[in-house]
Amino acid sequence: MAADLTGALCAAPGQDLAMWFRELEDTVDGRRDTRYARETCLRCPVRVACLDQQMEIEGRTGASSRHGVFGGLSGRERRRLYESAKRAKARAAA
Ligand code: SF4
Repeated sequence: MAADLTGALCAAPGQDLAMWFRELEDTVDGRRDTRYARETCLRCPVRVACLDQQMEIEGRTGASSRHGVFGGLSGRERRRLYESAKRAKARAAA
């Protein structure tokens, strides 16, 4: 079931959602836009639900590549979080 992301700051009027998908661009503009996206996420009232939903989607689909900033985390950071949670789960089950 999709999370209720009502109030998402990235969807507010005037926002340019493309700024959430520039973290792979190693340019001054790409870094600036990514910083803006991260800072906006940190103020977003649905940050936790957004990150939970994205982690669930990427985990379920076995995403080999993660792209975009969700919940303030880059794709690389979400992969690290996913792998860390997977290891912790395996340790708990052993
Ligand atoms: S946490 Fe970031 S990506 Fe998620 S809904 Fe809020 S602003 Fe958008």
